[in-house]
Amino acid sequence: MRISETQLKQVDRQIKRLRASNNFYGNKLREAGIDGVRTVEEFEALPFSQKQDLRDAYPLGLMAVPEEEVVRIHSSSGTTGAPVIIPYTKKDVEDWAIMFARCFETAGITNKDRIHITPGYGLWTAGIGFQAGCERLGAMAVPMGPGNTDKQLQMMIDLKTTVLCATSSYALLLAEEIERRGIKDQIHLKKGVIGSERWGEKMRSRIHNELGIELYDIYGLTEIYGPGIGINCSYDTGMHIWDDYVYVEIIDPETGKNVPDGEWGEIVLTTLVKEGAPLIRFRTHDLSRIIPGECPCGRRHPRIDVIAGRSDDMMKIKGVNVFPKQIEEVLASFPELSSEYQIHISHLDGRDTMRIYVETNGSVDFADMARRVTERVKSRIGFSPLVKVVELGILPRSEKKSKRVFDERFD
Ligand code: ZN
Repeated sequence: MRISETQLKQVDRQIKRLRASNNFYGNKLREAGIDGVRTVEEFEALPFSQKQDLRDAYPLGLMAVPEEEVVRIHSSSGTTGAPVIIPYTKKDVEDWAIMFARCFETAGITNKDRIHITPGYGLWTAGIGFQAGCERLGAMAVPMGPGNTDKQLQMMIDLKTTVLCATSSYALLLAEEIERRGIKDQIHLKKGVIGSERWGEKMRSRIHNELGIELYDIYGLTEIYGPGIGINCSYDTGMHIWDDYVYVEIIDPETGKNVPDGEWGEIVLTTLVKEGAPLIRFRTHDLSRIIPGECPCGRRHPRIDVIAGRSDDMMKIKGVNVFPKQIEEVLASFPELSSEYQIHISHLDGRDTMRIYVETNGSVDFADMARRVTERVKSRIGFSPLVKVVELGILPRSEKKSKRVFDERFD
């Protein structure tokens, strides 16, 4: 899948606007002597934009329009480094809501639905994006934000909300709580729209089974509008990306070259019509692949696979490239284990060690469990981890994204 003529023209227009605005990327393009793109080859040779560039542009260096056209900013803080500020024009805010409403429609959600929104409201793009999409669709928004499980469940019961919007870990927490309290028959949820945090099949099937709902993965990031630039349809064959707004490429994170459709790599996104802070070839560090072929739903929008991890998560341990997803798949092959786990990498006595924490209930022998997990992980990645089995419920569940890999070698 290559960039179309129309998309090339849109990028060309973006480049000219960026140069005229003298914002950070415009200056970068000028320094590189780039004044437009005409061909696919020229497009694939354009310099990437990186999160660090965006940090360097703090606070408003990304602004590509006169300030009077900016109606809102959002910020992605991240866990490390300076924040990034993204300015939005009126059109950007509307375009985002149009895309988000399209996501809801793609998930079969209508204006008769009542949408329970648990992602946070504030500087980051989560809650408000769900809200705007919901209002655009004409559905009833229940703007909960995160936290206060009692209140969440009460509102779910009293308002008979039909759609849950949440991160996967928060959806799991709510599912477990509903199970524990035995109130499943009072819950009216039919669908879950789950933020594009990396989550395994196991977690997915637990939420699906415990809540009895259809699940949809929604994709997006603050730098590129926010969540809502893509979602899977009911055929569940990957997330359709709204390529009339955002062009998606997959590159090899090491070489920066585009990979063929179907191959895994890093997602790179280009905004085609964004005004406030257009980004060209932004490296997301999310790992996925383009799914080749056409979706049975008939939508022509390209599809990407579920996010498999972050390119920065790739760990070099004892000289071997290890990927959290590999460990996760091994763990998922044990029905006795819960979907929660933690991986800790440390450096002891001159060598790297990997500890894996897993959870199970009292019906299995912990020592035997640890031995079996160790063996299977070793056969997958080539060396033995230290496996610690803990009681179900010990590992932290979080309302935001759960951190599962802890590299303590550089602390
Ligand atoms: Zn489809």
